[in-house]
Amino acid sequence: MRRRESLFVTRPMTPPLAELLPMLEEIWRSRTLTNNGPFLHKFETALTDFLGVENVSVVANATLGLILALRQLRVRGEVITTPYSFVASSHAIRWAGAEPVFADIDPVTLNLDPASVERRITSRTSAILAVHCYGVPCDVAGLETVAARHDLKIVYDAAHAFGVRLAGTSVLHHGDMSVLSFHATKIFNTLEGGAIVARDRNAKIALDVLGNHGIVDETTIPALGMNAKMNEISAAFGLALLPHVEQAIQDRRAVAERYWQQLESVRGIRCVCPPGVPGHNYYAFPILVGAGYPISRDALSQQLREQGIYARRYFHPLIADLPTYSDAPSAQPGELPVARDIAARVLCLPMFPDLDPENQQRVIDVIREQI
Ligand SMILES: *Cc1c(COP(=O)(O)O)cnc(C)c1O
Repeated sequence: MRRRESLFVTRPMTPPLAELLPMLEEIWRSRTLTNNGPFLHKFETALTDFLGVENVSVVANATLGLILALRQLRVRGEVITTPYSFVASSHAIRWAGAEPVFADIDPVTLNLDPASVERRITSRTSAILAVHCYGVPCDVAGLETVAARHDLKIVYDAAHAFGVRLAGTSVLHHGDMSVLSFHATKIFNTLEGGAIVARDRNAKIALDVLGNHGIVDETTIPALGMNAKMNEISAAFGLALLPHVEQAIQDRRAVAERYWQQLESVRGIRCVCPPGVPGHNYYAFPILVGAGYPISRDALSQQLREQGIYARRYFHPLIADLPTYSDAPSAQPGELPVARDIAARVLCLPMFPDLDPENQQRVIDVIREQI
């Protein structure tokens, strides 16, 4: 019997090669490889149109984007954030010179719980860094109320939230700044890359300077900048891929619907992101394995692995439980009960636009066969 192909949790998108090649030829001719080149400009403009926002600064990756956003907002002291995310969201706070303080998450959205955030505020708190986890929007109204009451900045880590809409408008309109990731594994990619969406024009201009070593002109370098520039090949890749993203999100939705139809009724399994929510992008398909299911999350993960299916435990372990952060008072074992419970039960199933129904059925069958 032919060995079944391995199925991973995601599979990066690439633009049709024929659409990318003419752009690469242009780069080869011009020898402009980076430093604010023509493809970066075209890409930034196309992205701004696509996202329906203003003041977009394209950067080399989201981690640098988060650090720049926090620096530009003069964040210091303590920043309240979620322990239930990719590690870069807390790392960026440290690199920006502040200290992450963890608040608990909401059991339904798996995003920061505004009430828990408010309990963590001290005289040293300067900002909230929230994550639209799996592309599910945060309780933006709740977070904005808390931030306004205590005069805090809000930065959204929107690494999962490309194309997400809330009440008919881009979720990126919320907060002082939002940061997108264009890493290969995200909804939309430029191999590596990202973008910062700022509320005002002056902030965008300042971010562009800060991300180019702080250079204003040849002899004027007033601030501690860094190199966060996107190169021309990544920008061309993004330009070629952008026209295909809308369809990819529709294809993801079809995958989500097939999972939902066959898994939603399985006892002890909860699907976190129901299909059909307007404006959702279907970035991931996380399930929560509960007490009603015959085997544990880890045992199910192992069963899938034996069939060549590599589901992933995003996000386990919690950031708060990593050695770099686990000494924090907000990271202690009695804290963060919801985040701890979710991290122990979550499993992200393979989710990408060209996951074909036959391969997807292999995943579903393993889950259903345990009952
Ligand atoms: C991927 C990711 C990042 C980091 O993005 P890069 O572009 O790889 O630096 C940050 N936060 C979250 C939540 C992510 O998933």
